[in-house]
Amino acid sequence: MQQQVIIVGGGMVGLSLALMLAKANISVKILEAIQYPTLNTQEPVPYHSSFDARNTALSRRSVQIYQNLNLWEALQQHAAPILEVQITEQGSFGKARLLAEQEKVESFGQVIENAWLGRVLLQQVRAHAGIELIDGVTVQGLCQDHDKVYIEAVRADQQALSLDSDLLIAADGRDSVCRQALGISVSVHDYDQVALVTAVETSKAHHNIGFERFSPQGPLALLPLPGEYRRSVVWPVAKGTEQQWLGEENDQHFLDALQQTYGDRAGKFVKTGKRSSFPLSQVLAERQAVGRVVLMGNAAHTIHPVAGQGFNLCLRDADVLVRYIAEQLQSQQDIGDPAMLHAYAQARLTDQRRVIKFCDSVVRGFSNQNPVLKVLRNTGLLAFDLIPGVKPLLANYAMGLKA
Ligand SMILES: Cc1cc2nc3c(=O)[nH]c(=O)nc-3n(C[C@H](O)[C@H](O)[C@H](O)COP(=O)(O)OP(=O)(O)OC[C@H]3O[C@@H](n4cnc5c(N)ncnc54)[C@H](O)[C@@H]3O)c2cc1C
Repeated sequence: MQQQVIIVGGGMVGLSLALMLAKANISVKILEAIQYPTLNTQEPVPYHSSFDARNTALSRRSVQIYQNLNLWEALQQHAAPILEVQITEQGSFGKARLLAEQEKVESFGQVIENAWLGRVLLQQVRAHAGIELIDGVTVQGLCQDHDKVYIEAVRADQQALSLDSDLLIAADGRDSVCRQALGISVSVHDYDQVALVTAVETSKAHHNIGFERFSPQGPLALLPLPGEYRRSVVWPVAKGTEQQWLGEENDQHFLDALQQTYGDRAGKFVKTGKRSSFPLSQVLAERQAVGRVVLMGNAAHTIHPVAGQGFNLCLRDADVLVRYIAEQLQSQQDIGDPAMLHAYAQARLTDQRRVIKFCDSVVRGFSNQNPVLKVLRNTGLLAFDLIPGVKPLLANYAMGLKA
């Protein structure tokens, strides 16, 4: 009998994982709360919780994963490569530069608009015979016994839906209902910040340079987007202060603040898109596999977006999980075997812990205004530019290859 995998959550991670599983000849059902629109024009997916105003910096490893799925050609049309990264701190003399050419790589990664990523993933998922996307269905609870996982869901018209599965992958985001239903506790750290996200236009072409600028408010990222003058902005500000930057009436105020923070490195900030805000917290599940259920994506670990690592880490998790499941299938074993899922979760801990620690310490290290730390940071940034070996290490981290 064919074994059945159900993914709860058809966001960036759920849809990508479904395509990876289907490529390994594993048939999948996705349950997604949002009712996705029909896509019959050349337009991005209208914004929703996963495919929103954000832009995602895909590491080289993530690009490789999409290449293996034969999706890269479609995604590349909406992506801009990062050929150089400059790291600076407002009011300090240190500056670090990473050049792709020097590191002997094509690029450090590619920046893609989430709405376009969503369109390409959704189109592929809908066209794949091995994937059934059931959208407009909210999972409300689940339980499991030795043989199966039982899922209770409700459709948009309030009709109840009951399903069972050999393996359930919970990719239902930071506040995962599945994780709660399993009684898995989480450790939460609230950064007391929200990230302002938008796309801007500058008078200078970006030349595919990404900037990471540490300001007293936090690390501000300016990354190249398709189109010579378009750049993606992620700017963490103190929680509760975001209203002054949102809304059309604050466009000029926002552009002036960017100008003041960046100086003229990017030329003049001439135009801004609509700003969206995202609360920033770190939410880590204490366990990622329980019985026949495994947590994936933000449901397993939500991290600060400071270094653009969250989704890249999720894709590496997904890549490894698919290999574990495919091996079970090949040897005609149970694809929901709790021991296999436990082994998968253990195997991913080292990479996850490294990335989580890296992102958290970058945020805490640079947010601290202690004068001694400030001096250390200055010299640290300079040393980073001067000491051989430090740069390639960080470059490898950023590219997602040190896993
Ligand atoms: C400002 C910002 C910038 C970022 N930039 C980067 C970057 O440059 N690079 C990078 O690698 N990462 C980045 N990230 C991280 C990245 O966005 C996350 O890793 C990613 O969104 C995780 O996706 P997900 O599918 O796990 O969760 P989500 O995007 O939250 O998707 C969860 C899905 O589950 C569905 N769902 C929820 N509950 C239910 C239910 N009960 N029943 C059915 N469906 C349900 C939701 O509708 C949604 O579609 C950034 C994050 C932020 C906040």
